[in-house]
Amino acid sequence: MARIPINIKEGKVATEEDLIVGIDLGTTNSLVAYIKDGKSVAVKDGKGKSSLVPSIIHFTPIGRIEVGDEAKEKLLSDPANTIYSVKRLMGKSYKDVAGLENYFGYKIIDDDTESLVKIRANDRFFTPIELSAEILKALKVRVEGELGRPVHRAVITVPAYFNDAQRQATRDAGKLAGLDVLRIVNEPTAASLAYGLDKQNQEAQTIAVYDLGGGTFDISILHLHDGIFEVLSTNGDTFLGGDDFDRAIMDHWVAQYQLDPAELSQALRLKAEEAKKALSTEDTFQSSLNGYQVSLDRATFNALIQKYVQKTLDSCRQALKDAQLEPSQIDRVVMVGGTTRVPLIKSAVSAFFGKPVYDQLDPDEVVALGAAIQADVLAGNQKEVLLLDITPLSLGIETMGGLMDTIIPRNSKIPTKAGRQYTTSVDGQRNLKIAVYQGERDLVEHNRKLGEFILKGVPPMPAGLPKLEIQFILNADGILKVKARELRSNVEQEIEIRPSYGLSEEEMAKMLLESIQHAAEDMQVRGLLEARNEARNILLSADKFIRQNQEILSEEEVRKITEFRDRLQQATKGEDKDLINRIMEEINDFTRPLAQRAMDFVIAESLRGKKIND
Ligand code: AMP
Repeated sequence: MARIPINIKEGKVATEEDLIVGIDLGTTNSLVAYIKDGKSVAVKDGKGKSSLVPSIIHFTPIGRIEVGDEAKEKLLSDPANTIYSVKRLMGKSYKDVAGLENYFGYKIIDDDTESLVKIRANDRFFTPIELSAEILKALKVRVEGELGRPVHRAVITVPAYFNDAQRQATRDAGKLAGLDVLRIVNEPTAASLAYGLDKQNQEAQTIAVYDLGGGTFDISILHLHDGIFEVLSTNGDTFLGGDDFDRAIMDHWVAQYQLDPAELSQALRLKAEEAKKALSTEDTFQSSLNGYQVSLDRATFNALIQKYVQKTLDSCRQALKDAQLEPSQIDRVVMVGGTTRVPLIKSAVSAFFGKPVYDQLDPDEVVALGAAIQADVLAGNQKEVLLLDITPLSLGIETMGGLMDTIIPRNSKIPTKAGRQYTTSVDGQRNLKIAVYQGERDLVEHNRKLGEFILKGVPPMPAGLPKLEIQFILNADGILKVKARELRSNVEQEIEIRPSYGLSEEEMAKMLLESIQHAAEDMQVRGLLEARNEARNILLSADKFIRQNQEILSEEEVRKITEFRDRLQQATKGEDKDLINRIMEEINDFTRPLAQRAMDFVIAESLRGKKIND
């Protein structure tokens, strides 16, 4: 019997359009899942064998595009035109991936006119977005084939550490594949949803999601309360995974059997992977490779991968430290990624956290299954589950003197909205530049520029009069909208930040580390710049004060103020912020009674019916 979905929020029977699929767009494999008879299922291939679509695209000499298993077969025969691991290139510039050329068997192009990488296949160039779109199209075709009707809407998962550029690139890939991407969901959150951890009658729980795939490792610590998921911390290694295990086996065999790696290369890799998979259930593996006999037992395999296992546990330790938790405070441990099938991984992770791990669901499917559940929530078929994440780096704008003014601090829960008012420091400014930065340093030059725009057409006003309201709106997908409005004239403008190049997890960690290392020195610089800014304002008002109050100031007083003024001006050219502050204080002390006198004079004059100076 067919299930008729009812949209509870809107109180109507859902139309066919309301079916939203969940997609796990992975580095090694991708999957699509949907809710069938109330249960999340991953769609299998035509033969009903596997739900995994290898994230591989092959371009045939006549320009036909093959995706998945068909493309995977070409890794051996046509490596230059067979593209894998494209997820690593999403939202990245050539600079970001420089040094990794050897990792890819295909050509990555540095196009001077554009900062994002392109990939060359045959004689054509493709962006990672276009290539990801090909994978998404294949998934779309797969699910449409199963359902017998078109699918237009999807939820796509991304790693918790993906930045705006990478999330936006993923969305764009969806659009290009003809999918309306309703939500980008973090992979660990999706995995937790697949295990129904949000449905357990528990006040709050802390979840560790250990995700070891083919080429990447992620550990995420989530806090779940009242159906809200919050990412407390993430850690990992973007170049650690099952592929390293394969390579360890290859190296071991090459040494043991004196093989020629150049002669065998891809065939050797595939054989090593076969051995690794077999050892997840068997104690020994034996096979032949181009006439050579190769074998491996589980104990040897465990010894080969020990250092990688340790590395993942070090990351877990760091993630816990960042979340200020002990292993014993983790309530659930969820296993994700094909490599968590390795028995040593399961036992090591379980021992580390001191509890059994969640591994009943297929670790390759679990993220897609959770994405389908989230899709169902969005379709209105389930009780609303709110998904909350955090922003990993602070977001702010450049203010006078190149200072970073944070508007949304790092670790803020998203979606979030924050705003602040600014004014001008120069008379008659018509165009106000708003430059948006990401990072923790006090000077914007040390942070990462996300974009800038100019609020044009502000009517000229004296410095300090315009009221410039800046609003940052960070949506659930981590995409930032910046709105600027001059409140007196109502001139406004907004931009959506789509940074042209991405930021890797390592770079993010590096930025954080640098902010800690330079904290003291940054504080000094900030102090100096702030003192200079304040001094500038005082210099401007000192001149104005003399101009406007000539009637009540004695010659001596004018001379004294001018002298202070010159001393302050001189001090702002130096580096001594204490000196600047001291002179400003002296000026304040000296002018306070004068200002009082000026005020009394103005009041007296106005009582006499004269106009107040403005
Ligand atoms: P993923 O990136 O999550 O799709 O993970 C794919 C990785 O899981 C590849 O390195 C596979 O070789 C590995 N993998 C798949 N099945 C097994 C298995 N039975 N035992 C060990 N590793 C596996």
